[in-house]
Amino acid sequence: MPSESEENYLRAIWKLTGEDSDEWISTGQVADRVGVSPPSATSMVQQLCERGWLHHKRYQGVRLTVEGRELAVQTVRRHRILETYLATILGISWDRVDAEVERLEHSVSDEVICRMEEALDFPDRDPHGSPIPDRQGRLPGGVDLNLAQAPLSIELKVVRVVDALPEVLNWLGERGIKPGEVVFLEAREPAGGPVLLRVVKDDRSLAISGDLSRSICVKEIA
Ligand SMILES: [Zn+2]
Repeated sequence: MPSESEENYLRAIWKLTGEDSDEWISTGQVADRVGVSPPSATSMVQQLCERGWLHHKRYQGVRLTVEGRELAVQTVRRHRILETYLATILGISWDRVDAEVERLEHSVSDEVICRMEEALDFPDRDPHGSPIPDRQGRLPGGVDLNLAQAPLSIELKVVRVVDALPEVLNWLGERGIKPGEVVFLEAREPAGGPVLLRVVKDDRSLAISGDLSRSICVKEIA
């Protein structure tokens, strides 16, 4: 079994490699993502390689082995089921669930996770809209489109907000931008600039930075 900090690294690497692809990433990226110095990331990378969970290739970087990926996905599954449980059953707001789950996730058994999943009737997305892997580690299919790519002038349903900080989630939530809400993209500045959108529910327009627009995923309403 991975230790708490090994689990955090595995999950960070899984997210960096694009969740379902296997790109190589650099140790520097891992350090950034986990929030540690490059030397500590390097020594953890070495440790994960020795455990057989990571491949390391000179000039290319690292990526998860099959076993490392399975462990990472299980960690993600646990995290997202706990978040959903805290938000749905206990009513904890979406900007606070991540921090609460970080304190709980390493001590909850698989059995409790499976019971929570059942009690929630097998959800496929967490409160942020992130897909929840099933018991076999499979992710629900479909690619999410973000606001930097989405078509203009049609109604779009918000499906996910990717890895936003609590204050950003809070800001978005107050403006009605959450999974399930409908928005309408009015304009987008070129070269990754801001987007102007309207929240359909209360007919309010607002501008969102190009950066943030890449974290908000939507789906065309059929
Ligand atoms: Zn989440």
